[in-house]
Amino acid sequence: PKRPYIVGNWKMHGTRAMLSEARTIDRAAQRHMKVEVAIAPPYTLIHPVHREAEQIAVGAQDCHHEESGAHTGDISAAMVADAGGKFVILGHSERRQNHSETDAQIKLKAEAALNAGLRIILCCGESDSTREAGRAVSHVKKQLKASLPDFADTAEEISEKLTVAYEPIWAIGTGKTATLEDIAEMHAEIRALLVSLYGEEQGAEVRILYGGSVKPENASEILATAEVGGALVGGASLTADSFMGIALAA
Ligand code: 13P
Repeated sequence: PKRPYIVGNWKMHGTRAMLSEARTIDRAAQRHMKVEVAIAPPYTLIHPVHREAEQIAVGAQDCHHEESGAHTGDISAAMVADAGGKFVILGHSERRQNHSETDAQIKLKAEAALNAGLRIILCCGESDSTREAGRAVSHVKKQLKASLPDFADTAEEISEKLTVAYEPIWAIGTGKTATLEDIAEMHAEIRALLVSLYGEEQGAEVRILYGGSVKPENASEILATAEVGGALVGGASLTADSFMGIALAA
């Protein structure tokens, strides 16, 4: 099995003053090689963090699906790679909600990212009303089926290139986390879907991260839950102390 993967999503936080935090995270990650640590700062910090980091990977929080063109304000996967980015988070619920991103668009972005040589972290998750209605599992499976990329060749190292992140929307930035039972149930469903899509060998190796109010205090039990291959961390990734507290719990 792969190392636990702890990814910080800085969202719209961070100016160059945060580079010292990235440096501290990188130094700590060098001492804890049993965990794979990465951060996705705002676009403006991708290259600066890349220059600072020796151990951790830096990535983006989104990309456009085209390589270049008349798309004011957008950034392509090739540009992320050129800045030193190694991966891109796609389909985050804040993109789906605030920018009306559809599963079909996310799939195009995923394929563009793979073409640019980036690894992808594909996000899925249900709202509280969907969970209340008992439709969380079916919703997440439908989202994933429609947004996961088609890999050109199944011999590709799919599990190297793809990570899935389950982030229940109602747990993001709220301090509420899903119960361990709910996490285990959803991750088992996602695992079964990945195996059906990509085969036993690759589907079983794709890491499935949990995201939503992960912090040092709850990280060890979440990370010890079946089929949880790591965490996608928002608020608690903004200081080296709390972020590495999570990484050390893995
Ligand atoms: P919080 O850790 O702040 O809840 O955010 C989770 C998230 O959205 C990570 O992508």
